[in-house]
Amino acid sequence: MGFFAQHDWEGRTYLGGWIELGATADAVSPSTGESLASFAVASPADVETATDLAVSAQRTWASTSPEERSAVLRRAAAILEDQRGVLERWLQDEAGSAPGKAAFEVGLVASELHLASATAMVPYGQVLRSGRPRLSLSRRVPVGVVGVISPFNFPAILAMRSIAPALALGNAVVLKPDPRTTIAGGLLLAAVLEEAGLPVGVLNVVPGGTEVGAALVDEPRVPVISFTGSTPAGRAIAERGGRLLKRVHLELGGNNALVVLEDADVEAAASAGAWGSFLHQGQICMTTGRHLVHESLYDRYVALLSEKAARIPAGPPASGAPLGPIIDAGQRDKVHSVVTRSVDAGARLTAGGTYEALFYAPSVLADVAPGHAAFEEEIFGPVASITPFSTTDQLVQLVNSSPYGLSIGILTGDAYAAFELAERLSSGIVHINDQTVDDEAQAPFGGVGASGTGVRFGGHEANIEAFTETQWVTMQARIAEYPF
Ligand code: NAD
Repeated sequence: MGFFAQHDWEGRTYLGGWIELGATADAVSPSTGESLASFAVASPADVETATDLAVSAQRTWASTSPEERSAVLRRAAAILEDQRGVLERWLQDEAGSAPGKAAFEVGLVASELHLASATAMVPYGQVLRSGRPRLSLSRRVPVGVVGVISPFNFPAILAMRSIAPALALGNAVVLKPDPRTTIAGGLLLAAVLEEAGLPVGVLNVVPGGTEVGAALVDEPRVPVISFTGSTPAGRAIAERGGRLLKRVHLELGGNNALVVLEDADVEAAASAGAWGSFLHQGQICMTTGRHLVHESLYDRYVALLSEKAARIPAGPPASGAPLGPIIDAGQRDKVHSVVTRSVDAGARLTAGGTYEALFYAPSVLADVAPGHAAFEEEIFGPVASITPFSTTDQLVQLVNSSPYGLSIGILTGDAYAAFELAERLSSGIVHINDQTVDDEAQAPFGGVGASGTGVRFGGHEANIEAFTETQWVTMQARIAEYPF
């Protein structure tokens, strides 16, 4: 199977090898509306088949040496790095990623594979003290089959950040990618891992929508679900999984604040703010949704950010434009509805607010206040909302009033004061003197509140916590003696 040979996987999925199923669907370019490829669509019954395959392949996979598992992941990283253009192109064509975003994502996927290849080799337990003459230890064992459900926006990394560590630790995986990014977020990842030597059955891809995801959550032989997506879908999945006492890792939405303190360099702040709000058309869980700006810098910041927004073009990735399309018309309409409802409620549109086809102009809303849609909701589009504040207490209240808690940026001339301020903010991630969007394979990534309840992604410790179970084992030379 050639990783780059579309005719090898066209019309199929990876389910115990490359197979056709009854139904197919098309991968569609959000830039042009043209069909890019077709793929097989799974049914709930196919989820059962995928789980059968995964359950039987997992035992052998878990008993292969850690060196071997590590080597598969290392080879996958090398294949991806050697042929990075293939995945980059699909991220551009299918997911509407600008070239820089696509390249960044492929780098992250490779980095995730490298990290997971090391996770396969690190210590996985502790020797415990015991009051009795015996060896007492705790060790982490694979959970068995991990179900991964992933979104469209960074489809490759948000699938691979669960797949790679789960495989490294001896699990099998059933992946349900978002139907809008089945190729970049599903089939190509399977093709790379297959080419790297992953045995058949250890990873299976079940393309489809909500009903296929729900069947995966309901499948009793899948004890861990790793979900990345919206908060409403996360709630539904947690409820379903809870009934079956599953461990459900949830990485959900955000409404992230970029705080511009009184002593910040306002020009640098506006540049960072533009990146935080507009990168990948704002379709990132860590996107800067709310710019909270000290009143002394407010007018200048609004003017600078609005000028920048007006100069950043959106266009097809092939044109080299820094911003691409919104993923589909439904999502675009949601973005536009937040803008119009906020303007109706009293916010001031200082840039953008228009669209052509799926290309939404980078937009700025000033004078946004609590209660406005742009302040309260995750927009998931290229819209920066700006709110002034005067005191630190007011700022803390504004930041923490959001039910979300994923990422916060604090821009300031006094980094230590921001470090102290960070302790008062409800957020899984805080960047001082940077905007809100960042990820590294080795850093603990995740949110609090409506942004997620799972363990963190990133680093060996988090990988092991997420994708293994703890087993306490004692061992002594002879059978213990008892008075009975
Ligand atoms: P979504 O929740 O609609 O879909 C995500 C995935 O879940 C898709 O594969 C979808 O088919 C599946 N799905 C949806 N409902 C389901 C259900 N009831 N049962 C089983 N599967 C179901 O998400 P979206 O709107 O496409 O993606 C954007 C959202 O994802 C945003 O809210 C964004 O903030 C969030 N996100 C979070 C992170 C993070 O790490 N915290 C990263 C990226 C995106």
